[in-house]
Amino acid sequence: MSISRNTIQRSLILQTVRSLHHHPTAEEIYRETVKYHPNISKATVYRNLNLLVQQGEILKVEVPDGADHFDFKLQYHHHAYCHKCGSIYDMEMPALEDMMERAKGPQDFLLEECNILFRGVCSKCRQK
Ligand SMILES: [Zn+2]
Ligand SMILES: [Zn+2]
Repeated sequence: MSISRNTIQRSLILQTVRSLHHHPTAEEIYRETVKYHPNISKATVYRNLNLLVQQGEILKVEVPDGADHFDFKLQYHHHAYCHKCGSIYDMEMPALEDMMERAKGPQDFLLEECNILFRGVCSKCRQK
């Protein structure tokens, strides 16, 4: 049984996401990956990121009007988004894990997920 090229690419992209601790965007993950694997294309990185999300290996943090960010920390947690620099930070608070159970949606609405995103200005941007 041989390991396919796709599998190798996917695992090295996963390693890259795990090495970046600031919720990188796809662009940042691509730039980090090509440093060590100059032949990898942007399309390959983007495609594999989406596959890793589908497989539950990483999380996608969606930002309204901004680029998607990726997160290797799989435990349910909330994020803070800095609207000055576009950075994503982990919130230091217990996650509202029972949110889905407590939610009473519109009738017959199939609730699938709930993402809480706090918005504000990060300390780096406030110091400027
Ligand atoms: Zn900021
Ligand atoms: Zn996070």
